[in-house]
Amino acid sequence: MNNWKNILQESITSPSQLHLFKKKHQNLNETISNKVIPDFPMRINSYFLSLIEEVGDPIWKQCIPDPREEEDFICMEDPLGEEALSPVPNLVHKYPDRALLLVTNQCAVYCRFCTRKRMVGTERMHITEENLQACYDYLRRTPAIREVLISGGDPLLLADDKIDHILSELQSIPSIDVIRIGSRVPCTLPMRITPELVAILRKYHPLYINTHFNHPRELTPEAKKACALLADGGIPLGCQTVLLKGVNDNAQTLKELFLGLLKMRVKPYYLFQADLTRGTNHFRTTTKTGIDIMRQLYGHISGMAIPRLALDAPGGKGKIPLSPNYIKESGENLIFENYLGEICSYPEAVDPL
Ligand SMILES: *Cc1c(COP(=O)(O)O)cnc(C)c1O
Ligand code: SF4
Repeated sequence: MNNWKNILQESITSPSQLHLFKKKHQNLNETISNKVIPDFPMRINSYFLSLIEEVGDPIWKQCIPDPREEEDFICMEDPLGEEALSPVPNLVHKYPDRALLLVTNQCAVYCRFCTRKRMVGTERMHITEENLQACYDYLRRTPAIREVLISGGDPLLLADDKIDHILSELQSIPSIDVIRIGSRVPCTLPMRITPELVAILRKYHPLYINTHFNHPRELTPEAKKACALLADGGIPLGCQTVLLKGVNDNAQTLKELFLGLLKMRVKPYYLFQADLTRGTNHFRTTTKTGIDIMRQLYGHISGMAIPRLALDAPGGKGKIPLSPNYIKESGENLIFENYLGEICSYPEAVDPL
C-alpha cells in the first residue's frame, strides 16, 4: 500500500522515456524537445502521467517540456528577488512577521511554470543540515517572525523522520506561533499522504497546509483521499492555484476547480498571476484575464470557494491583490455595480454635528 516511493522512483525524466507509456497514450510520441532538460529538469511520476488524456491537454502542458522554455527572453531568473531577501541561504525574509524556509529541492513533478524553476531539482538549490541549523538560529534571534512557511521544492517529499525533525526544531522556537507547509503532493503524488505522515504532522498544531491544484481533472479519488486524511488530522487546507494560459484561464474551469476543492475541505486561498520566471513566459495571461474571471466568480458562487487573485510583485515587493473595480463614483454616496452589473448606491457615514 505504502508505495509512493516506488511511484516516485518510476518517474520519467526525459521526453524519450515517454514511449514507455505509448501503449496507453497513442499520441504521446509527439516530437518533444530534449533541449530544455539540462536547464530545467523534467520529472513526471507515473500517477501524474496517468492523468494525461491527450497531447496538449491541461495536465500535459503543466509537466511536459516545451521548446518555448528556451525562447523566453522576457522573464527573469529570480523574479521575486528571493536571493536578495535571504539573510541565510534557503531562508527568505520578505514580510516582517513571516519567513519562508526552503527545505528540499525535490518535487513529485517538476511543473513547467514553477517560480523556482531555476533551482528545483538542481544543485543550484543545495540544502544541508548545517544550513538548516543556520536558518533555525536566524528564526530564534528574529522573534518578530511569528509564522514559518516551509517550502522548497516540496517539503512532503522528505522522509517522515526528516519532516518530524524540522517541525520539532521549529516548534521549539518560542516566537513561532504558526507553521505552514506548502506542498503540491496532494495533487501530484497523493499516495504520499499516509496515516503515518498525518500522525507526525498533527503533533505540530497549529499547522496549516497550502496545497496546489490547477485543474478540475486533478481532483481524482486519490487526491480526495489524501485531502480527507489531512483534514481528518485537523489540518486546515488551503489551495494556491496559478492562472495558466491554456490550462485554466477561463471562469468555467476555475469555478469547477474551486467548487470541487471546497467539497474536499480545501479552501481556495490564492489565485496567482503567473510570475515573471524565465522559461515560463508562454504561460502568462494578461492581468485583465484574471480580473475578468474574478468578476464572474464573486456573487455567483460561494464566497468560500473564491480565492484572492494576487500578483507577486517583481523584485520582492510582495503580493498585491487584484480586484475587479465595482466602484463607479465616490462622494456623499458611493455608487457601485453589483455582481449582476446593476448600479447601486450606499450613503457614506457623516460625522454628527
Ligand atoms: C508568499 C510569501 C509569504 C506568505 O504570504 P501570505 O500573503 O501570508 O500568504 C511569505 N514570505 C514570502 C517570501 C512569500 O513569497
Ligand atoms: S511542485 Fe511547486 S515547487 Fe515543485 S515544481 Fe511544481 S510549482 Fe515548483
